[in-house]
Amino acid sequence: MSRIAYVNGQYRDMRDASVNIEDRGYQFSDGVYEVCEIRDGKVVDLPRHMTRLQRSLRELRIDMPMPLSALEIVIHETVRRNRVTYGIVYLQVTRGVARRDHAFPVKPVKPAIVVTARGLNFRKNQETAARGIGVITIPENRWPRVDIKSVSLLPNVLAKQQARENDAYEAWFVDGEGHVTEGASSNAWIITKDGKVVTRSAESGILAGVTRAVLTNVMSALQITFEERPFTPEEAYEAAEAFVTASSQIVMPVVRIDGHPIGNGKPGAISMRLREEFHRFSDFS
Ligand code: PLP
Repeated sequence: MSRIAYVNGQYRDMRDASVNIEDRGYQFSDGVYEVCEIRDGKVVDLPRHMTRLQRSLRELRIDMPMPLSALEIVIHETVRRNRVTYGIVYLQVTRGVARRDHAFPVKPVKPAIVVTARGLNFRKNQETAARGIGVITIPENRWPRVDIKSVSLLPNVLAKQQARENDAYEAWFVDGEGHVTEGASSNAWIITKDGKVVTRSAESGILAGVTRAVLTNVMSALQITFEERPFTPEEAYEAAEAFVTASSQIVMPVVRIDGHPIGNGKPGAISMRLREEFHRFSDFS
């Protein structure tokens, strides 16, 4: 079955789908994106993703490409047309098409939108979680506005590649004060030896993850202690458990950081429990 993409008002076969070469997303990374998990053919936590999308767009002074209700219909229709039961839906909005000039187009242009959906291998993802992943730490080199989910991801791309080349799956950025900010495509967490789940505050240095927000509800329901504070790689090496969160991975246990085994070098019990319980607290639409 060929894949279908929604591109600026039309559902197109992926092989024919294209955007203008003067799309400002292509030339300046002048756009934002969202990724939602699809489970049982349903979109997970769509309202939270839409709220974050609208915020990212507002921060960059890009208009919504269409009313929210219409956008939600397009997202669901893209999932349906691609017959995805487990996977992700990706959506990207850019400032639009205009003759190349750094400043915003003088004559306003319509924002451009692309929505795609694809299946992921559920079993493979579960197997990865059962093994756990390795992480490396690297110096933070991104712009300070990482709270905006911008398509400008060059430092994240290089970080991820560096992780790959060092036999790891994710890279954690470390800021000038020596604290972990977040992963190249995930939020970073540790669990202390006395069972406290720790992650950095969403006020600075990180993207406010949707998975992160839902997980705080999971933890309060399960009466797991949660602490919002920065931590260093050295504290992480000594942690009982560690994990990352992202919509495509939910809670993914970390078993190695910079070559140091975490806990007993296997996915931790609390991390696995949070992974298992997560969807009881998600919204499905
Ligand atoms: N931080 C970064 C840099 C990300 O790219 C992502 C997800 O792609 C996240 C955090 C996690 O966000 P969410 O849980 O909303 O997927």
